[in-house]
Amino acid sequence: MVRPAFAGSFYMSESFDLIVIGAGPGGYVCAIRAAQLGMKVACVEKRATLGGTCLNVGCIPSKALLHSSEHFEETKHKLADHGVIVEGVKIDLARMQARKGEVVSANVKGVEFLFKKNKVTWLKGEASIPAPGQVKVGETTYAAKNIVIATGSESMPLAGVEVDEKQIVTSTGALELEKVPGHLVVIGGGVIGLELGSVWRRLGAEVTVVEFLDRLVPTMDAELGKQFERVLAKQGIKFKLKSKVTAAQKGKDGVTLTIEPAAGGAAETVKADVVLLAIGRRAYTAGLGLAEIGVATDARGRVVTDAHFATNVPGIYAIGDAIAGAMLAHKAEEEGVAAAEILAGQHGHVNYNAIPGVVYTWPEVASIGETEEQLKARGAAYSVGKFPFTANGRARAMGDVDGFVKILADKTTDRILGAHILGADAGTLIAEIAVAMEFGASAEDVARTSHAHPSLNEAVKEAALAVGGRALHI
Ligand SMILES: Cc1cc2nc3c(=O)[nH]c(=O)nc-3n(C[C@H](O)[C@H](O)[C@H](O)COP(=O)(O)OP(=O)(O)OC[C@H]3O[C@@H](n4cnc5c(N)ncnc54)[C@H](O)[C@@H]3O)c2cc1C
Repeated sequence: MVRPAFAGSFYMSESFDLIVIGAGPGGYVCAIRAAQLGMKVACVEKRATLGGTCLNVGCIPSKALLHSSEHFEETKHKLADHGVIVEGVKIDLARMQARKGEVVSANVKGVEFLFKKNKVTWLKGEASIPAPGQVKVGETTYAAKNIVIATGSESMPLAGVEVDEKQIVTSTGALELEKVPGHLVVIGGGVIGLELGSVWRRLGAEVTVVEFLDRLVPTMDAELGKQFERVLAKQGIKFKLKSKVTAAQKGKDGVTLTIEPAAGGAAETVKADVVLLAIGRRAYTAGLGLAEIGVATDARGRVVTDAHFATNVPGIYAIGDAIAGAMLAHKAEEEGVAAAEILAGQHGHVNYNAIPGVVYTWPEVASIGETEEQLKARGAAYSVGKFPFTANGRARAMGDVDGFVKILADKTTDRILGAHILGADAGTLIAEIAVAMEFGASAEDVARTSHAHPSLNEAVKEAALAVGGRALHI
């Protein structure tokens, strides 16, 4: 194609109904849904593969390593109890990492296939927004009736702790280690730190988690959090709560960390072979040119949107980790779908109160809705139903009796307000409560539903029965 060359103008290539910037779970799902609804859609991605943080360096590779390392731990420490004797159990870390790569590759290619199937154009390169209605990729500027920013997030830096992705790593480096570290210090007791800490602990590392607050995963229901901490400590993870890392000195034989009490006081030094910096993630919008076109961001760098994902600039929308709210793949996805539907004139909507959050350790932790602390803070009258996995036949048969199910319901209407589960497969069990909450169900609705026996889900039913003070098996 010959470019028309006339002074003072620029070459405008193809035009689209929608250009989505970023092909993570928010962006690629938004692009697919918009294409399903009949829009001409392009999605820009600067990474060599589609799928964003989640598929490339987040959810999927971490779950692959969690699963592999759990197999190792099970074979080494748990199978004998089941009468299965395996001798000479060893790790082939190179194979484990290669398998993880294969899993990632299959997933990202899957998104490429979905783009082709739905006729979404993948524009390869880094996008900027020179003006509303325009997206520039490389030297080409495309016209877009609407633009959705889905550029995701990046690991939060910490002063004094310089990441090199070898000795001091973010989650990305922690997924790529070629050797099991002797001592791994994790800075941050959040979801990512605990999941990756678990991986390397299972594979043989001594793991210490340093956390500024007095508890792990601070958004978690406190009762559940306490028990979760005890379970992880029993597995061998050491915790330094109410502590902060103030410096990291790299040497040939590891990293020396300076750690102080969070409230101030005498410092101590701790040696680590590898340090994982996992104090959180922050919205990523670098290079888009948002300030230049006047798109508002908040003090934490997140794009400010209204309830319909619209920014303050007409025609520009934002979703996922780049905006406020939980940094979760399925939250980004729901927003992607809702944004596409709104652009198509439909009534896309996300129920933020029914988005589950899962920590994929073993046992898993899963939460949805309000915590007991949140209910107390807003002065709500509520009932609590709890049921331990020690009293669940299937959990006993599996040998996985740690944890419990806790359901919180409105005292007057019995409507489920929240549920918190620590236990085997908690991440799958929580789906039942998510559906119940979407339907505005009461605890009694769940309690009167037949649950297969013997199943872990029976613990959910029993917790629902316990809300009404009538659990049967305890
Ligand atoms: C180790 C780890 C484990 C996780 N595990 C889970 C989990 O188990 N469950 C869960 O729900 N969440 C998990 N998350 C969080 C999850 O990955 C994010 O919430 C999710 O990926 C956010 O999706 P997104 O589409 O908003 O952004 P992202 O997935 O971050 O995708 C954004 C994409 O935009 C691209 N991009 C950025 N700027 C530009 C530009 N200017 N031009 C072109 N492309 C651009 C980036 O390259 C990236 O591919 C995990 C995260 C990490 C780091």
